[in-house]
Amino acid sequence: MWSLQPQNMRKKIVAGNWKMNNDWQEANTLTTQVLDLLKDRGIAAEVVIAPPYVHLEKVVSMVSGTNGVSVAAQNCHQESSGAYTGEVSAAMLDSIGVQFVILGHSERREYFKESNELLAQKVNAVFDHGLTPIFCCGEPLSIRESNQQMEYVTHQLTASLFHLEPAQIRQSVIAYEPIWAIGTGKTASAEQAQEMHAGLRQHFEQKFGQEIANNIPILYGGSCKPSNAHELFAGPDVDGGLIGGASLNAEDFVAIVDSL
Ligand code: PEP
Repeated sequence: MWSLQPQNMRKKIVAGNWKMNNDWQEANTLTTQVLDLLKDRGIAAEVVIAPPYVHLEKVVSMVSGTNGVSVAAQNCHQESSGAYTGEVSAAMLDSIGVQFVILGHSERREYFKESNELLAQKVNAVFDHGLTPIFCCGEPLSIRESNQQMEYVTHQLTASLFHLEPAQIRQSVIAYEPIWAIGTGKTASAEQAQEMHAGLRQHFEQKFGQEIANNIPILYGGSCKPSNAHELFAGPDVDGGLIGGASLNAEDFVAIVDSL
């Protein structure tokens, strides 16, 4: 069996965002392989699997009983119920044992026009139902090229999270994902990631104080793979990763988990 780090250290998390990939047979195989590979390893991270909605209940049941492995949804609606055809609420996710919800992924922001204000409502819905948000933030290439990434990303956090109670912020997970690095094969350097993570932590500290800021897990996402994960995760403010493409291969995903 493998175990988590002691409670007093910042939680380390590696989350796999499958996006809109894998039919049920593929999802079943991938989950089985990941669980098999994690078995008997001394892993110091919480592992989160984020399959598409239709597989959530089955994946929850597959991971139940495996210490340190949880399931995330990739999105949810801001209302608990109602006439919102095609949508899924945080209440529904909670009712089937989902623990995390990824919110504000750049693909949701871009293709589904999710604004910082809408995301603030979704964050509230997630907390109303006892779930944990994995809140994504990150700048496009044009902002990075004009060296305004810190202002841009801290604004995303202020607009969507700074209304929360300290107890809620304490429960939150942040994922910094520079848009120019997502699915492009182009990774932020370890220095760029660490610099941003430290800046975000400082931003939380200004509003919520040092103790809370020190305990918020901030994950890096963007073309993270077994060959670069160790270097990226070495930054003292980098607490793990949100993994897209590489989470579709069990060996690559678990190798990334091993890099922490
Ligand atoms: C993501 O979509 O959250 C992500 C980090 O993707 P990739 O790892 O494929 O860049």
